[in-house]
Amino acid sequence: MSLLQPTKLIHHPQTAAPQPTKPLDEHLSSDTTRAVLRIQNQMLTATRRFLADRGFTELLPPIIGPVTDPGIRGSKQVDVDFYGHKYKLMTSAILYKQASLLAFDKIFYIAPNVRLEPLLTAVTHRHLAEFHQIDVEMRDATREDIMRLAEELVSHVVAEVVRERPAELEALGRDRDAFRELVEESFDRITHADATADLVGLGHPQDPGAEIDWMGEEILSGKSSRPFFVVDYPKGSRGFYDREDLAAPGVLRNFDLIAPEGYGELASGSEREFDYATLVTRMRETGENPSKYGWYLDLARRGIPASSGFGIGLERFTRYVTGLNAVWQASAYPKLPGVVSA
Ligand code: AMP
Ligand code: MG
Repeated sequence: MSLLQPTKLIHHPQTAAPQPTKPLDEHLSSDTTRAVLRIQNQMLTATRRFLADRGFTELLPPIIGPVTDPGIRGSKQVDVDFYGHKYKLMTSAILYKQASLLAFDKIFYIAPNVRLEPLLTAVTHRHLAEFHQIDVEMRDATREDIMRLAEELVSHVVAEVVRERPAELEALGRDRDAFRELVEESFDRITHADATADLVGLGHPQDPGAEIDWMGEEILSGKSSRPFFVVDYPKGSRGFYDREDLAAPGVLRNFDLIAPEGYGELASGSEREFDYATLVTRMRETGENPSKYGWYLDLARRGIPASSGFGIGLERFTRYVTGLNAVWQASAYPKLPGVVSA
């Protein structure tokens, strides 16, 4: 399959991304890739230390299961033949994160995800078909608790890279001043309704009942000089596991964390739904067949703990920190949607 021509990003400081036309040996042995992967390694080390210091237990993530996260904006799941049963590769580990709280109150994974994203995303600079999430879940946490944790984690990791990896940042041409506001100031928050109104005011046709689309996200991101949260997405725009606000029916207790400078979404998170009957209703409302979710609903019937959590896209976070043109450059073995590669 040949690659579509990259579109020029209107709000990104740089123009179209070079696409991964290099063979894998050239990619892996280039100075750029080495600098990026050293920074990514520092980010992983900093993440693990930060979460361990706060009492989180790292678990190894699941790779396959009878069901996986259906809330994945237009991408396709990959089937696996499990002894005659149709299993899926994980698109995200959300269902297992909730279950894991039966073992520990605070858990995290560095989890691989596979999503067959639509072909047109090969040129967004932000989509891989295989990527990783820093996946965090905390029992009895509110959305506000978990947003604070996400903010502290991102600030901690970026500060450590700035401190420990100045040579690599310089080699990549990433100005450390880009992170001064991030490290010193707290992240703003805007509601989905206000973000939508802003976009419509700017002439971007954002549907108020849907996830903010990629271009809308990039426009908002391009207007900001430090990361910010978008909160309160409308019911119907996200997965069944994002809890509805009891005080504001139709609004979900969730958030996205958006990187500045046009880099777009870094993380999504929420307070989770855990009530069995509500989960079944929400599955039906989101077009999911509850009978597919046997093990998860059995668990919910017996009692899943209340929790909040989030997932940060590791390659997207790396791209932002390193100032890369495209997210594939933050992967050792990049897989772009539709592109046959190593
Ligand atoms: P989501 O469950 O779609 O919110 O994904 C969680 C996080 O993973 C997002 O906030 C992104 O940072 C990252 N992510 C999602 N899809 C992709 C993709 N196709 N390529 C790279 N990163 C992704
Ligand atoms: Mg998201």
